[in-house]
Amino acid sequence: MFKALLLQEKDGKVTSAIEDLPDDRLPPGDVLIRVHNSTLNYKDGLVLNGLGKLVKTYPHVGGVDLAGTVLESQHADYKAGDQVILTGWRVGEVHWGGYAEKARVKGEWLVPLPHGLSTERAMAIGTAGFTAMLCVMALEEHGLRPDHGDVLVTGAAGGVGSVATAILARLGYRVVCSSGRADQADYLKSLGAAEVIDRATIAAPSGKPLESERWAGAVDSVGGATLAAILPQMKYKAAVAACGLAGGTKLETTVIPFIIRGVALLGVDSVMAPLMRRKVAWARLTKDLPMDKLDAMIHRAKLEELPALGKAILDGKVRGRVVVDLG
Ligand code: NDP
Repeated sequence: MFKALLLQEKDGKVTSAIEDLPDDRLPPGDVLIRVHNSTLNYKDGLVLNGLGKLVKTYPHVGGVDLAGTVLESQHADYKAGDQVILTGWRVGEVHWGGYAEKARVKGEWLVPLPHGLSTERAMAIGTAGFTAMLCVMALEEHGLRPDHGDVLVTGAAGGVGSVATAILARLGYRVVCSSGRADQADYLKSLGAAEVIDRATIAAPSGKPLESERWAGAVDSVGGATLAAILPQMKYKAAVAACGLAGGTKLETTVIPFIIRGVALLGVDSVMAPLMRRKVAWARLTKDLPMDKLDAMIHRAKLEELPALGKAILDGKVRGRVVVDLG
């Protein structure tokens, strides 16, 4: 038996309850895992609230991410006792996820837990932190270097934003954080932000296709009007790594920043990232993300608290990273 936060749907309304389930309720897969930690991402908030049409069949166990110990494996790369991480692959959406003491998954979705990283810290990173690393890697591959100028991080007090801020600061960039929460300025500065600006000033549309060149790079987890406002402010040949939609999906812009300044819009996806890229990103995270800064982002929670936290993250009220303790 194992404990799980089980989601049920009735008349279009999704409810959740902690239940004890037998192992044979787990979906098929070649690796059985004792989950020690999971986390809460924006997408988990959508699933917990039955939004976004992400879950097709109920009952369902959410949790996009998990970290734990292999109990049984028919996969050549893993054996009982191995510690592993899973993020993405639509786990927690179409496949049962990490909001349970046990998970059965495909071995090909797993990444070995990097040496020296605990399952708690791995989940403090989770999809949000992994995506932040992918964004930084995309900017670097585009040619960004610390001496090019200020790098903007939007949605900065959230999960992606917090981790991106800490990584970029560690790498020597001057990081400017855009946040709607003035009361989080000290927190963002403690992560390494050189400056914190009000997100209202970023998202205010000037109507001009080009503005003064301001940002050497940007990590944008907000999308919508924020992303539209950033593009005309990018320096010549600079890039925005766009990974999120916390502020909206619709992008109203002109082609002018692309064709006059050679600005690049780099789309970043973590869900279907190939295994090799995952391993590189996790190795970079253990090297380039200061662990004391990561620890300062953690809010520890139990399964019981997830429904309330799932609402809070959609309201932009969760700071940093939630780590779920499953024992
Ligand atoms: P969080 O909720 O932790 O962070 C989002 C932040 O965006 C908030 O903390 C807030 O920051 C800001 N924000 C929220 N609502 C608005 C709004 N209406 N307008 C402007 N800013 C807003 O979420 P995550 O960090 O987990 O995820 C961020 C985004 O990235 C989500 O859209 C998520 O779906 C996406 N994502 C995409 C991935 C991919 O693979 N492409 C992977 C992971 C996440 P502040 O208060 O500082 O302004």
